[in-house]
Formats: sequence, structure tokens, C-alpha cells
Amino acid sequence: MAFKITVDLPACQGYANCLIEGPALFDIDDDTNKAVLIGSDEHDEAVRAQAEAARRGCPAHAIFIEDI
Ligand code: SF4
Repeated sequence: MAFKITVDLPACQGYANCLIEGPALFDIDDDTNKAVLIGSDEHDEAVRAQAEAARRGCPAHAIFIEDI
């Protein structure tokens, strides 16, 4: 099943844990110091584990994963 990642930008505090847990999925915008998604916000199961680890590791609880 595919899934979609959403980042609550007002909640994001730029801790960058998501980059460590999900380097294929997340980057940090140098100007805003907020997370940005690499490429599409929609992904397949190959990167589900990275996405879930990033969601769990986000201290601000700013990452959401939705099955699509
Ligand atoms: S870990 Fe959470 S708070 Fe930190 S940059 Fe990523 S989304 Fe933002």
C-alpha cells in the first residue's frame, strides 16, 4: 500500500531527527529551518520503515503518515 507524508510546518521545530531517520524522505530548508519532503509526498512500501522511524523520532510530533 502506498502512503502519504505530511509535515505540520507550524509545529516543526527544525530538530532534524527526521533527516537522520529518513534521509531519503526529508531535508531541512536552510532559510526556514523547517523540514521539507524530498521529491513527492507519496511513497511506496520500500521506504515505509524510514517514514515510520522519522514520525516516531520527531520530538514535535509534526510528521503524519496516511495510507492512500
Ligand atoms: S524531526 Fe520533526 S521537528 Fe524536527 S525537522 Fe523533522 S519534522 Fe521538524
